[in-house]
Amino acid sequence: MTKVLAVANQKGGVAKTTTVASVGAALAALDRSVLVVDLDPQGCLTFSLGHDPDHLEVSVHEVLLGEAEVVDALVDTEDGVTLLPATIDLAGAEALLLMRPGREYALKRAIATVAEDYDVVLLDCPPSLGVLTLNGLTAADEVVVPLQCETLAHRGVGQLLRTVREVQQITNPGLELLGVIPTLYDSRTTHSRDVLADVADRYELPVLSPPIPRTVRFAEATASGVSVLSGRKNKGSDAYRELADNLVQFWQHSAPLATLEAVG
Ligand code: ADP
Ligand code: MG
Repeated sequence: MTKVLAVANQKGGVAKTTTVASVGAALAALDRSVLVVDLDPQGCLTFSLGHDPDHLEVSVHEVLLGEAEVVDALVDTEDGVTLLPATIDLAGAEALLLMRPGREYALKRAIATVAEDYDVVLLDCPPSLGVLTLNGLTAADEVVVPLQCETLAHRGVGQLLRTVREVQQITNPGLELLGVIPTLYDSRTTHSRDVLADVADRYELPVLSPPIPRTVRFAEATASGVSVLSGRKNKGSDAYRELADNLVQFWQHSAPLATLEAVG
């Protein structure tokens, strides 16, 4: 059965896109068939997977508006995942979708036509809580929240959780919040741990393990057009592989997801 996992946080720069690209590549390496969906008009996921948004004729924009079939927009990537790409056109989709009935269901309806071809669909949500993120949360079975371990990381988390609860009440009762993925984690400082303990406490949220360490290789990977996993082994890619493994165990064998117990 296909699992649809949304990666959401309305804050930018918390590694949503990096998480989708890396977990997607790690799942593909585990022989899972993976579709990743770029829901950000900036097209960072599209770009980081080797496709120039400016050179795409059809993208998620046309698909959401019902002007193209999903299959006509899909592109292959070197990471072994299939991509439903985004272009800057998507910035206009917010306004166009707003005028339509059932606007939150556009993505769910669209991916239903191809979902059975994939074991996992990963949704890279944009840095806002607008219609595109609502589409992501409505289409998803589960959602994870990457959180940068810095002071005031929690600002906005309450608002995001409210949105998740509203989606659960209105458009997607089955949506399950799996927890927070600690990103840009610096294990050398107690500070990162304090931030996590605070967030876990304040919102009673599971903090998933392992945390994703800050590593310079990620910035290089983003610029190179292939994900961080295809380069040399490093502690960031190791962490994402472990996270992907944990997700597979959770999905296939209902194994509990590993959480950071000792964050306090
Ligand atoms: P978002 O999608 O939430 O805006 P990105 O995935 O684009 O965040 O990441 C923001 C920036 O942080 C990018 O430049 C990315 O390369 C960098 N980054 C992400 N994860 C890491 C990491 N573990 N270590 C170092 N840099 C990272
Ligand atoms: Mg992003």
